Amino acid sequence: MKKIFFIAGLFLLTFSNAFALEELEDVGIAKYAVIEAKRDYTPVRVLPNENAERFLHVRKGFVLYADKQNKDFYRVDLGLDKPFWLEKKYADVQAVIDEKRIQKIDKIEFDEDKEKYKIFIPAYIQNAYSFKETPDGLEFSLYDVDYENLEIKNKRGNFNVVPTKKSVLTLKYTSPALFGYDVVPHKKGLVLEVRKIPKINRKKPLKGIKVVLDAGHGGEEKGVCAFGVEEKDVNLKISKQIRKALKKRGAKVYMTRTRDKYVPLYDRLTFAQDKEADILLSIHQNSLPNPKDVVNRHGVGTYYYNKQAYALASHLQEHLLKQTGFRDDGINFASFALTRPTNPVSVLVECGYLIDKNEMQKLTNKKFQKDFAKAFALGVEDYMRYLVVF
Ligand SMILES: [Zn+2]
Repeated sequence: MKKIFFIAGLFLLTFSNAFALEELEDVGIAKYAVIEAKRDYTPVRVLPNENAERFLHVRKGFVLYADKQNKDFYRVDLGLDKPFWLEKKYADVQAVIDEKRIQKIDKIEFDEDKEKYKIFIPAYIQNAYSFKETPDGLEFSLYDVDYENLEIKNKRGNFNVVPTKKSVLTLKYTSPALFGYDVVPHKKGLVLEVRKIPKINRKKPLKGIKVVLDAGHGGEEKGVCAFGVEEKDVNLKISKQIRKALKKRGAKVYMTRTRDKYVPLYDRLTFAQDKEADILLSIHQNSLPNPKDVVNRHGVGTYYYNKQAYALASHLQEHLLKQTGFRDDGINFASFALTRPTNPVSVLVECGYLIDKNEMQKLTNKKFQKDFAKAFALGVEDYMRYLVVF
């Protein structure tokens, strides 16, 4: 483990050194370029590299300030101690200006319904924002603002403005567990939405819970192909069994596809958000670049990105291991398009390795698929029970 950290550290060091040598250009005739994100959940990264860690994501149309550029990236100034980076292909330059347009935020206004808290932030520019999950809740930060005379209207829930930097408005939500959060653009600003933990029936914890099931791949996108079996078909068959098992326990289930067709990744996410899903579960089958490695690496694995999804991943993993007897391929942190969403709570499951003949035979067996689906539903049930403790 130590060795891995050392290598990773070395890589970062080498990378930033290499980068320091590269010439950065100004953004134009003035100090800042106002850049606007071209697509939803555009990543802003810690280094000018498309694989670097993501510091924040912004929704389409949101604005950031770039003070330098290289060939592929804008250097973004968030008013923090270090710069961040946004790939040029995801942004349009709106203007070149001498000074940031620091936006005055005079009030924030709370509202709530049964499912969530909504905090309306009136703003003429939709500025960059970030989320940070902390051990006792969530921190939401809005950059390049002046909130000196902030009025807080109809305060609800456990929210507090916490002092950080002068140009950064940070709102802290204290809660022992999180169940989805996001920023939604509004014609007069933005709305921070934080979902409440639902009240559930202990005996039937899935009753009324909305689950979007995503059978990975489809159409021309076949996924893993091994022993004449295509991943997309196995994903769909297992997903349909899971749908049955979840529905039987009272959940409302929607599928991103119910037949063999191609669905773009981000359409799958939009679908889940349109359904106002509580949980998004993607179903896949695994493989390895070198099939010979399957002797050591196989089994069932779950994948999460946001900390809030870890509990769901671990409850699923526990039941799936017990049911399948497969090797434990871990509860893994992974940055995938369908693990990154903060709302709904999102997890991806690799049911097994299709390139492992033994696992392939089981995963394509109808009885096995049914038992697998039942274990899956029990895992989601346990997760809901776990949440209710809070
Ligand atoms: Zn896959």
